[in-house]
Amino acid sequence: MPDFRATIRSAQVRVVDWGPHLARSGPLQTLLHARGRAGIALVDLTVVREEDLADELIAEFLAGDRPAHREALVRWAATVGYRRAWLPGEVVELEPCAGGAATTACTGCRARLTDADPRFWLGVRRAGRFPAICPLCGCDLPQWSTMSDRGVPERLGDRGRRGEAEAVRRAP
Ligand SMILES: [Zn+2]
Repeated sequence: MPDFRATIRSAQVRVVDWGPHLARSGPLQTLLHARGRAGIALVDLTVVREEDLADELIAEFLAGDRPAHREALVRWAATVGYRRAWLPGEVVELEPCAGGAATTACTGCRARLTDADPRFWLGVRRAGRFPAICPLCGCDLPQWSTMSDRGVPERLGDRGRRGEAEAVRRAP
């Protein structure tokens, strides 16, 4: 069983707990494929743990397997602190960049949440994702972003890499 289902839309990643109620095949497959044609990726994620920390990520695209979606998923995985991502036909060695101030905005109650506490990051590294439920209204949250992944060009240039190195040094 996968751990999570990710939805990627315009580089925004949402990650919810996987459950057997989520469509993978059968009659709903038509709807899955339609989401892919609409420019949205749906991906099942399985976490490989080292000790009790999320270490490697296995991604199975159900819809929308495109380079931009792979890029968004890989960037998110590095921010969470994964070391390696297994995508269909491709293994990506990541430069983990967990740490620093992370932020997201609830699409339900519009609260902006920010956290940089080492205990927050330990929770993220253990769970294999950022908190996905708003503590105020209970809506699911878009995955959080950090300074190291905001505004970094598609292919990381020197500036992006320096930012990542700083984030690693700050990481707990
Ligand atoms: Zn909320």
